[in-house]
Amino acid sequence: MRYTGYQYEEKPLASLSLGCMRFPTREATVEVIAACREQDVRYLDTSPGYCYQSDADNSETWVGAAIQGQREQFILSAKCSTSNGGDSVGEYDPAHGFSITTADQVRRQIEQSLRRLQVDTLDFYQLWSIHAPATFDEALKPGGWLEGVLKAKDEGLFRHLGITGHADAAEITRWIDTGCFEMITVPFHIMDTSRLEGIRYAREKGVAVIAMNPLVGGLLGSPSTALAAELADLGVTSATDMALRFVASFPGVSALSGMRSPQEVHANAEAVSALAWTEEACREAQHRFEALLGKADHVCTACGYCMPCPQDLNIPEILKLRNYYLLLQLDSAARTFVERYKWWGNSFKADRCLACGACESRCPNGLPISTLMGDVMERLGDRLARVKDTP
Ligand code: SF4
Ligand code: SF4
Repeated sequence: MRYTGYQYEEKPLASLSLGCMRFPTREATVEVIAACREQDVRYLDTSPGYCYQSDADNSETWVGAAIQGQREQFILSAKCSTSNGGDSVGEYDPAHGFSITTADQVRRQIEQSLRRLQVDTLDFYQLWSIHAPATFDEALKPGGWLEGVLKAKDEGLFRHLGITGHADAAEITRWIDTGCFEMITVPFHIMDTSRLEGIRYAREKGVAVIAMNPLVGGLLGSPSTALAAELADLGVTSATDMALRFVASFPGVSALSGMRSPQEVHANAEAVSALAWTEEACREAQHRFEALLGKADHVCTACGYCMPCPQDLNIPEILKLRNYYLLLQLDSAARTFVERYKWWGNSFKADRCLACGACESRCPNGLPISTLMGDVMERLGDRLARVKDTP
């Protein structure tokens, strides 16, 4: 295992951490966490909203059951948010941990997490899902989120404070300059290094960095012979290997992966344990990966000019998944499309395209978008039929 150099109560923070949001079942949670213990993956990031089915069945209760008798082996983190999961404050949702705006509410949330996890204290408590400055400011208001958590920290309910969200590098700097946080969790992966300056600033200030979405939301979570051939001289064996090695090569950064099986834990541990790349090698891998994607028959530059679509289709994201599937032969891209088709409202239902042509008249690359929507459905139709049949 590679390590970040940080440690908490004698427990080292490895370059691989467990995001507790994708467990399929309570039983699988036990198996995944046992594999993490074997690989020295100790940081567990859970929330009240992950895998939520009921107060008795959710990520926190499953993790609580899995760590029974070995609590001290793990760096345990829970969280709640001032936001509604998006850019604004919504209606107080204690079950899932959203829109928490008062010191009393945050206290209830911390106590709920302790109860569900069956522990007396947490290692980390996090201000969660902070994507916009307004929800961060909300947390700092007198009588609000921060006041409540600092009181709970003084009373020993948790030891360290962290913050997570999709804010940009400048906003991350503002978080760190409050001096309140010992850890940040932000998106950072081979396709998005826009927060690198914020990450470097965190390192300078001794703040640990957890990289969210290291596999681009699972998109790079399967083998790709095309990618392995293209990057063979860099020692890349799969898309997952490339993506995790990239993130883990940055000093002090731990890749937060939502692993669902012991096999994934072992494979990911092997990937982060490989020889770290230099910054130059990271740039080279990134450059060649982008060049490979540039060989697509229809290159979408994700400019977004085609939007909005009257049928609410997320055209750039659908085309991205199509290219990953075709060009990199990534089974995970097809799987991601099917999951999004099923769960993400209308935005990935490419068969809703009316061929109205509104998007095509706005596309600077002249892409035949309506034809490509049909092409996506044709190539992935079989999989969708199987998923639709699943109760
Ligand atoms: S052609 Fe299809 S994808 Fe394009 S705007 Fe019309 S409905 Fe949306
Ligand atoms: S306008 Fe064309 S290139 Fe830009 S996001 Fe839409 S499809 Fe892609």
